[in-house]
Amino acid sequence: MNFPTTLEGLYIDGQWSAGGEHLRVINPATEALLTTVIGGDAEAVDRAVSAASRAFGAWSTTSGAERGAILRRIAAGVSAGRQQLMQLQATNNGKPLFEAAIDVDDVIATFEYYAGLAEGLDAAQDSPVALPSDGFSARLRREPCGVVGLIVPWNFPMVTTAWKLAPALAAGCCVVLKPSEVTPLPELELATIIAESGLPNGVFNLVCGTGMAVGAPLTADPRVAKISFTGSNAVGVQVMQSAAETVKGVSLELGGKSSLLVLADADLDLAVELACGGGFFNAGQMCSATSRVLVAQELAEAFLARLKSRAEAIRVADPFDPAVEMGALVNQAQYQRVLGHIDRGLSAGARLLCGGQRPAELPRGYFLQPTVFTDVPLDSELWCDEIFGPVICVRRFTSEAEAIALANDTPFGLVASVVSRDLVAAERVASALQAGLVWINAPQVIFPQTAWGGFKQSSIGRELGPWGLQAFQEVKHVIRGL
Ligand code: NAD
Repeated sequence: MNFPTTLEGLYIDGQWSAGGEHLRVINPATEALLTTVIGGDAEAVDRAVSAASRAFGAWSTTSGAERGAILRRIAAGVSAGRQQLMQLQATNNGKPLFEAAIDVDDVIATFEYYAGLAEGLDAAQDSPVALPSDGFSARLRREPCGVVGLIVPWNFPMVTTAWKLAPALAAGCCVVLKPSEVTPLPELELATIIAESGLPNGVFNLVCGTGMAVGAPLTADPRVAKISFTGSNAVGVQVMQSAAETVKGVSLELGGKSSLLVLADADLDLAVELACGGGFFNAGQMCSATSRVLVAQELAEAFLARLKSRAEAIRVADPFDPAVEMGALVNQAQYQRVLGHIDRGLSAGARLLCGGQRPAELPRGYFLQPTVFTDVPLDSELWCDEIFGPVICVRRFTSEAEAIALANDTPFGLVASVVSRDLVAAERVASALQAGLVWINAPQVIFPQTAWGGFKQSSIGRELGPWGLQAFQEVKHVIRGL
């Protein structure tokens, strides 16, 4: 793909412009500079929040049907631009084209889903509330919470954006979006599509930039009612602290350390496919990554042999290679971070089953072999911390209780997976796992209808489903004396 030397990184009040901050955008598969996005600063954030505040009065009182129609136009625009958006995701993020297609289809499904919920709001408005007294009547209204700031990471650029933006617009909120400085290109294209959707000026604003230049002033702005943030726990804590100064709401989608539990009667081929899918999709750069695999002692040898041979057969290649199975990591910093985890894992005494290095045939780009460790010490960084790369840590267990205890022994609680032919046992284990989403004998499928988010330090709040919409609504009761 060819890009202009520089791109304007601000879309404020219906106008494109350039700010002052230069963001170098890299192709992680080649390490080549793609373009420079000129992003914003505190002044641009101020202008974007002002535009959103001006637009809020009119937008918040449009009917759900009108908002739904615009969301459907955005979904149609994304659908029409599907190929272009897939290529941008693959070029800017390093993910294979087939994974980029899944992302774009998820974005379309999310806008369609929230279009439906927006259309349903008109009939649900002013729903009566039963009271224990004859002297009063009460009605419940849900109103948009105001101007909201959306801050997203680089691993699923447009998907994390859609999961916030579609429900925020459906609810009637006005938005300032800050994409990751690492992957602004898919979001710039999405903004172009939104600009042509008929949304009134100021309802949607985009400010590219770094966390310090744009994310921090957006979080601190007293006119912003809520921040919806997806990213690391370290930054999530800063966002929460800053939001506390002006008592604004926060939704946080943070890290994970998720387990796949392979019970003694599991289908081994399925278990290996789920381990590889959960561990190596998006080069393992997923908050929901299958970072820990817990396998029943009696299956362990056979499972490890099959996992090794499958992991070694995975084709790591350029995202546009038709046979690619795993692409590149997103940038130099992330690549070095993951290599550091591998080095320290070896020093801590974990046994490397396969991978751990750059594939010999790929001398450039941030490519890494799918990596599997066994006998990972329970107190090692490899076992305890989020790795965010294509690294699976395997341990054996001898009882169901031990497997559950190992899976739950983490401050995170995002997702988990169970493989077993015994559905009663699988359901029992699923009930005992501290996770917001548990898959049984299934890959990591996500539907807009089901909630996304976790227990413990993985999340505050839930995205997707009606919970994703409610995150952008205030509850108002009107009580009338009869
Ligand atoms: P990050 O926390 O470094 O950055 C996330 C976003 O926050 C970026 O847009 C960044 O510019 C911005 N930011 C940085 N400092 C800020 C500040 N002081 N104030 C406001 N904004 C600031 O995360 P990342 O490296 O982009 O993404 C990887 C992390 O995201 C991983 O920890 C992963 O688990 C998490 N993640 C979670 C989910 C989920 O749904 N739970 C989904 C995807 C990624």
